[in-house]
Amino acid sequence: MPSGLHARSHTYYKRLILGYLLFCLAALFCFSNRIYAETEPVVGEPDSHEVYLKLKKGERVWKDKVYVAPQQPTVYLTFDDGPSKLTGQVLDILQQEEVKATFFVLGKQVEAYPDLVKRAVAEGHAIGNHTYNHVYGELYKGFSSFWEQIERTEDILAETVDIRPSLIRAPGGTFGNFDAFYFYYLDQAGYEVHDWHIDSGDSKRVGVPASEIIQTVRKGPFQDELIVLMHDGTGHEQTVKALPEIIRLFKQKGYVFAVLQPSVQPKHFAVGKVQQPRPSSEAGYEKQLAEAKVHELAMSALEQSRHAQQAADKANHSESSPMIQETAGGVSTSTVVGTKGSLLLTNHTRTAAAPLEVLLARKSLKLDTEHYRFKDGHYQVPLRQLMESLGGDIQWRGEQRTAVAHYGLHTLEYDFVQQELRVRDHGTTTTIHLPQMELQEGTVYVPLRGTLDKLRIGIATYGPEDGVMKVQVGMNLRL
Ligand SMILES: [Zn+2]
Repeated sequence: MPSGLHARSHTYYKRLILGYLLFCLAALFCFSNRIYAETEPVVGEPDSHEVYLKLKKGERVWKDKVYVAPQQPTVYLTFDDGPSKLTGQVLDILQQEEVKATFFVLGKQVEAYPDLVKRAVAEGHAIGNHTYNHVYGELYKGFSSFWEQIERTEDILAETVDIRPSLIRAPGGTFGNFDAFYFYYLDQAGYEVHDWHIDSGDSKRVGVPASEIIQTVRKGPFQDELIVLMHDGTGHEQTVKALPEIIRLFKQKGYVFAVLQPSVQPKHFAVGKVQQPRPSSEAGYEKQLAEAKVHELAMSALEQSRHAQQAADKANHSESSPMIQETAGGVSTSTVVGTKGSLLLTNHTRTAAAPLEVLLARKSLKLDTEHYRFKDGHYQVPLRQLMESLGGDIQWRGEQRTAVAHYGLHTLEYDFVQQELRVRDHGTTTTIHLPQMELQEGTVYVPLRGTLDKLRIGIATYGPEDGVMKVQVGMNLRL
């Protein structure tokens, strides 16, 4: 308990209440083996010393992020510790069942079975980082060794499949292994750590029979969004055997199967008491934090340059066109890119910490952080405000659940029934299926750059300025 609280409790009654609260807290700590630590999202740049003190107390601190809830019950099957000689069979089953999954791979195994990782990626599965060698004694003696293994595995994956996953799974799960610092550094570095909701129990001991694995999964708990832990490492033949039945079980329950991605709300176990003592110093914290931030900058910078490259490749398209990236204010990212080689980043989903200002020809559109989103690498802005600022107009056709925007000779029809966007332009109509658009509480959100592109409006410059992310639009740059 912070001593400040004691200082403020002048009266006997206050002490009594405080004592009772302390007792309750202590009781909670004693009786619950998975305590969800007090958590606070941080908006903007928090004071790093304050954060240090919080982390030291075991409190979680994380960036403000937005996750997307699935439209229907969704299960994320995850396989850890591979690839191994069993992974091919797992991939065959997934292929037969038309199911996608996520593989949390070990760097060491990727070196041994690179082709299986290539196959998993080619078949649409997601790849996450499960460290290099899974040795608890090394991973949990202090964050720097965990970090080294994450980076090492990431480099191997970049070489093998040109992916630097932002998904991480802690060997053994985070409980009893991660402290608040581990969570914080990884979050600052742009990673998402995923524990699980259902443990299939396939690694409880050697050779757990398929029937027992199925029974364990059958017990649930079942909720709308579910992460299931399984293993495709050496010795897990019984998991392979159980897999078809497990897939059937979720299909019968009406689940759809999806891969984990940064927009999925991660499951985190609580910060428990760590099994291995580890040193901590504020200097070490500052150093590690700086390293985490450099990593994130490198990933963002590379994502940006990748998008720029895509822009150069295809000058005139829409959905796949470059989106504005969150940029790091005041820091030179070019040197960072050099150190990171060929980074590929999966998309981040988060709200940005700064207001967004779109400078148009005559007007500017200023949106506070709560009025726009930064999702999957795109700024998502309210369509109505954007059109009105441009001097265009917009109508909502309630019956068809379609928003129709006009700007000059361009018409954009966002159809939420057909889930398509029809772009009418100089007498031609282009239909985009499953476009980026979202209807939330009566507001249609669309990607800023993608939408401006469709209206043949280019973005001249963008970047942070005085705490505001400014986007300068160049009208009719490209006709
Ligand atoms: Zn593992």
